Amino acid sequence: MLKSFIDVDEESHFPIQNLPYGIFRPKGKTAPRAGVAIGDWILDLSILDDKGYFNETGAGGKRVFSEPSLNAFMNLGPNVWAEVRTVLQDLLREDNPEIRDQADLRDSLFSRQSGVDMLMPVEIRDYTDFYASEQHATNVGTMFRGRENALMPNWKHLPVGYHGRASSIIVSGTEIKRPLGQRKTEGDQPEFGPSMRLDFELEMGLVIGHGNESGSRIPVEEAEEHIFGLVLVNDWSARDIQAWEYQPLGPFLSKSFATSISPWIVPMAALEPFRTAGPKQDPEPLPYLKGSGDQTFDIHLEAHLKIPGLSEPVVVTETNFRTLYWSMAQQIAHHTVNGCNLNAGDLLASGTISGDEKTSRGCMLERTWRGEEPLQLPNGEKRVWLEDGDELRLTGWCQADGYRVGFGQVNSRILPTQVEETKGGSRDAVLSEKG
Ligand code: MN
Repeated sequence: MLKSFIDVDEESHFPIQNLPYGIFRPKGKTAPRAGVAIGDWILDLSILDDKGYFNETGAGGKRVFSEPSLNAFMNLGPNVWAEVRTVLQDLLREDNPEIRDQADLRDSLFSRQSGVDMLMPVEIRDYTDFYASEQHATNVGTMFRGRENALMPNWKHLPVGYHGRASSIIVSGTEIKRPLGQRKTEGDQPEFGPSMRLDFELEMGLVIGHGNESGSRIPVEEAEEHIFGLVLVNDWSARDIQAWEYQPLGPFLSKSFATSISPWIVPMAALEPFRTAGPKQDPEPLPYLKGSGDQTFDIHLEAHLKIPGLSEPVVVTETNFRTLYWSMAQQIAHHTVNGCNLNAGDLLASGTISGDEKTSRGCMLERTWRGEEPLQLPNGEKRVWLEDGDELRLTGWCQADGYRVGFGQVNSRILPTQVEETKGGSRDAVLSEKG
């Protein structure tokens, strides 16, 4: 098994087999730069580049690792990503003295992850959120339309999705302010105020590394070559705002206030050993959606809730990426079948990932069945929706024999809405606007 001269714990998410990319700022320095995670450390790629270690690759001399995002590196394409990864794995292996035995170089290259700020890894261009989990779509459909009509007639023919908001995508650690908006009531009039039904959605997102020309399509068989890597995604959702606004054009302000992602992008090459088959698709998809071979990955996923007054977080959800009905390749093929162009930096999220068990449902809406089955917490409290001060953390990893390829975590705390912010938006004001 490949090993690094850097000590890496067996349960670490970041062995030499992973090497995810991120953008970080060392404490006391101002310029963000690119790095890869290895064990508890970050290897500074901008310094490696300055010293000429990438000169034999397509990234040499372009200073792409001194940029405040990975977009320029991603735009160089999959051959260059592979060349850089080969250089990195070679430099970090335990039997290579090049960095290992040069103490000064080594000191300049590595920072402790605990001592740096992790920033947004990419400049997000566009954001699409799919709805690819059959269990999630079925559960939500059952709650709102009954079991008979749970899945819409189109659902097994195309990967359903909506266009989300790129400007409010934020990196792990950024706090979330509870959104204000028009909430659905029992009647046909809304009320205005802070969302009372704030929810998370456990998702994964793929980052497009290089796109396609407007008017062209990406064939399903080539789709994965366009993916730079994967991140964890929390698609924060205000269910009471969503319930009032979503018809007829889908989610809008109930989602656009914030979407959190993990800071490390795990490259597709690191996931290859965990490739596996997805669920059988019936009916057979149309030819443009028909891939061959195994199209998904075995990624264990968890959601943890930490509430004020509880010392340990509670595991809310345990699920797996492999349960998704529609593969990433199918999502990309469908997204571009009309000639829509994708760009480096586009984020395509999976939709909530729910499994067959109650404990594998990927959001509070499903987990508590719209509040009918509140979560019982160890301190006697119950939770239906997220409350101010709660922290929600998503994590996930692929388990191999003796090592893990992990995604780290995406973690955020809910802040209250300030009372004065609700002024000027009283119920009366809303109703008079409607005339
Ligand atoms: Mn979602």
